[in-house]
Amino acid sequence: MAELMDVRFKELLLAKKVSDTKSVLMLKEEYFQTMDELKEACSVKLKTARQYYILGRYEILQCGDVEKLIRKRANFAEEPIYFVNIDEMYDIIKRAHISTGHGGRDKMVTFLSRYANITRESIELFKSLCIECQKKRKRATTKGITVRPILSKDFGSRGQV
Ligand SMILES: [Zn+2]
Repeated sequence: MAELMDVRFKELLLAKKVSDTKSVLMLKEEYFQTMDELKEACSVKLKTARQYYILGRYEILQCGDVEKLIRKRANFAEEPIYFVNIDEMYDIIKRAHISTGHGGRDKMVTFLSRYANITRESIELFKSLCIECQKKRKRATTKGITVRPILSKDFGSRGQV
């Protein structure tokens, strides 16, 4: 089942990416292509408008022997904000979701604030696919029904005072 969720999540992200040309979601190819473009933009003297755009938006951070695409920082002391590609998103969001104890959207948004292009929408999408969270929601709904008569009785007795 866990693998299924992984596949489903990626499918839905890809569908969103296709339906919205301005989507911040990045395909794996796009992610690596941007890094290549960035390197080229750094090396040429006469830059195109596109190259200036790329240079103003992105930076490459060397993490051990891995290069990561991050948001352009004002200075090197600034905390890096990472771009991620669609293939990486499931694992990253899952980690945040488990670390926050199946946390809600806002908890996860805070937890994932180091990522430039993991949106609330993607986080909500992930949460909607989580089987544990679906079970929890069902339990909460059932509980709500049994609680209601007690509440109305309470209101009634207060009304008599
Ligand atoms: Zn969950």
